Amino acid sequence: SQQKLNGKVAIVTGGGSGIGRGAALRLAEHGAKVCVLDRERERANMVKEEIARLGGEAMAVEADVSESESVRMAISKAADRWERIDIVFANAGINGTWTTIEDLSEEDWDRTMNINLKGTFLTLKYAIPFLKKQGGSVIITSSVNGNRIFSNIGASAYSTSKAGQVAFMQMAALELAEYRIRVNAICPGAIKTNIGQNTNRTPEAEEAAIPVEYPEGSSPLEHHAGSPEQVADLVLFLASQQSSLITGTKVFIDGAESLL
Ligand code: NAD
Repeated sequence: SQQKLNGKVAIVTGGGSGIGRGAALRLAEHGAKVCVLDRERERANMVKEEIARLGGEAMAVEADVSESESVRMAISKAADRWERIDIVFANAGINGTWTTIEDLSEEDWDRTMNINLKGTFLTLKYAIPFLKKQGGSVIITSSVNGNRIFSNIGASAYSTSKAGQVAFMQMAALELAEYRIRVNAICPGAIKTNIGQNTNRTPEAEEAAIPVEYPEGSSPLEHHAGSPEQVADLVLFLASQQSSLITGTKVFIDGAESLL
């Protein structure tokens, strides 16, 4: 039915743009109350208003997932308002700086790890006490980067953070199974979003990159980047009871890009 998430409460980090925005809209369309968490207040507000215009229920919270107090308070705001949390989409992330390892600064490495990897940990850490009360579903946005044989050269910090998210997902799935909390990761290929705004790809990285047969932003299946709406269908599936036996796994959504 259209309302398969009726009564459920979802937190979407990075919900103000791209994949997070697409998922927030889709979860709300199917009846979930959605907390749109983003470090950019305006973006979060716009998505909240879009959901309201479509007849859904949402709140916008400005928070930085890499800051412990910030994410803890954001999650408790949602739980205070709706008295439960069932679905957590830990999705906020940045590409950060893509360059050779010798040129990558320690600050750039830390920034990528703090947002992509530590941010995922903090999001789960503060949501788990609420999820435990009735069970739920956690979805983590990893990437094809870090999860295939060869990845874009230059993306060492990004790929390491994305691979780390999968290891963390597996540990969380095992630890939380007894509470009926499922935890999975999605590994998107190129998706049309605003992530380029948070990318700094240096000439050294371009130079070192191995040329691939397929133009960037395309896959064997489609000769253009995927859409947030396509990813939202997968997030909805993993959030809903239709995936009730699926936990501890990663799902590629990449038009077979990961097989290149
Ligand atoms: P996007 O830039 O369009 O959206 C990301 C959102 O996260 C933005 O609104 C941004 O403000 C927010 N954000 C960034 N850092 C934050 C922080 N510290 N705290 C809270 N919010 C923060 O990018 P997107 O492509 O939708 O990225 C979402 C996720 O998808 C990321 O984890 C990214 O690594 C992953 N991903 C994207 C692609 C792609 O091709 N676009 C492919 C694979 C994986």
